[in-house]
Amino acid sequence: MSDPSPESDAPVERSDPELFDKIVNLTKRRGFVYPSAEIYGGFRSTYDYGPLGVLLLRNVKDAWWRSMVQERGDVVGLDASILSPPAVWEASGHLSNFTDPLVDCTNCKNRFRLDKLEDPEQCPSCGQRGTFTEPRQFNLMFETQAGPVKDASATAYLRPETAQGMFINFKNVIDTTRVRPPFGIAQIGKSFRNEITPGQFVFRTREFEQMEMEYFCHPDDAQKYYEYWCEHRYRWYIDHGMPEDRLRLRPHDDDELSHYSSGTSDVEYLFPWGWDELEGIANRGDFDLRQHAEHSGEKLEWYDQAANERWTPHVIEPAAGATRTAMAFLMAAYDEEEVRGETRVVLRFHPTIAPYKVAVLPLSKKPELSGPANELASELRKRFMCDYDETQSIGRRYRRQDELGTPFCVTYDFDSLEDSAVTVRDRDSMEQQRIPLEGVAAYLAERLH
Ligand code: ATP
Repeated sequence: MSDPSPESDAPVERSDPELFDKIVNLTKRRGFVYPSAEIYGGFRSTYDYGPLGVLLLRNVKDAWWRSMVQERGDVVGLDASILSPPAVWEASGHLSNFTDPLVDCTNCKNRFRLDKLEDPEQCPSCGQRGTFTEPRQFNLMFETQAGPVKDASATAYLRPETAQGMFINFKNVIDTTRVRPPFGIAQIGKSFRNEITPGQFVFRTREFEQMEMEYFCHPDDAQKYYEYWCEHRYRWYIDHGMPEDRLRLRPHDDDELSHYSSGTSDVEYLFPWGWDELEGIANRGDFDLRQHAEHSGEKLEWYDQAANERWTPHVIEPAAGATRTAMAFLMAAYDEEEVRGETRVVLRFHPTIAPYKVAVLPLSKKPELSGPANELASELRKRFMCDYDETQSIGRRYRRQDELGTPFCVTYDFDSLEDSAVTVRDRDSMEQQRIPLEGVAAYLAERLH
């Protein structure tokens, strides 16, 4: 496996708190992310994805699905339930182990996750030393009741990860489809964790989306596939526009590994506060299938007819956060430049990730321009996510589309009535080209794919 990790930590210019504030501000102003329940004063660390954010998030999930399921013959999909009974979490170890160490500061009464503190003796809020309580293990799972009776038999949990859905459906999938190891089961969906210290905008929230895949293989091949998936997943981010100097693959030290894992690497992005995780790729051995086999009494193994052998597959798990990754793509895309004495803010999204692919802008609101411009937009919408805007000056409309990250703007002007052509403006170079109307869709398709 090639090691794409840079030698040293931190090119400095991105670790700028002002930059982070600017990006958060832009996401609100342009309709990417809103604080949840805002008209009631907001609800702690929950967010709603607005018209732009929902497109961005969907594009991230679609790009992952295309790469992990559609373009492969060896991975199938799943959409498992969010509510699940205690037995699942008993077997997976989450009921006893899915905890974070919590400390309270006796001086300022704030709560912290001990393992995330820079100095475990000093409160980062009030600065006092030696004021922390003894750490308590706090379970991160959200517990609820299924049905009207509130007794122990009604206890259910919101899943804290999507992965267990794949393990508990392993037998269903091998019994009902044609898969045979090595093969994977992939799922995208919401997960819930009662995080002690949510924060950094949508980086750590209590409700979030994950994109996870469990790859089941012969025990002898596990190391090979672990290396394969580390490389494959790192590449996916680069191929979708992450700059190499802000992305690294970091193998865990031995003391970070869970007891069943023989190897874990994190894909990390250089956020304004430093390197932090987007995805973990773990060689989990046969831990999960064995646990569920033992607790459920079902045989969760593979029978190789040709060799007349039974074995429990080993699992390689690439587990990514969709919401966290969408935010990282947005941060990576953010750029400012001086254009004719003014600052131009532009989101340089990869075309696959960009919320809108094109915007149609009639030069004036007059019906002789807005009529055909609307027709063009309707035509383009059949193939691309297309915005339409006829308010304000053309310069301001270009700037707005730059801030949304729209790769192309198509301007319909008075000459268009004569020459049946339009001006296509490129977001990154700002260059403009005159293109015949009937060739616009093909021109865009060529550049967007
Ligand atoms: P962390 O150490 O940041 O708490 P983790 O190692 O527990 O994360 P995993 O259980 O490996 O995370 O989950 C896989 C991915 O799910 C993470 O890499 C991250 O992208 C995403 N994720 C996990 N917890 C959250 C959260 N609270 N908010 C948003 N995304 C999350």
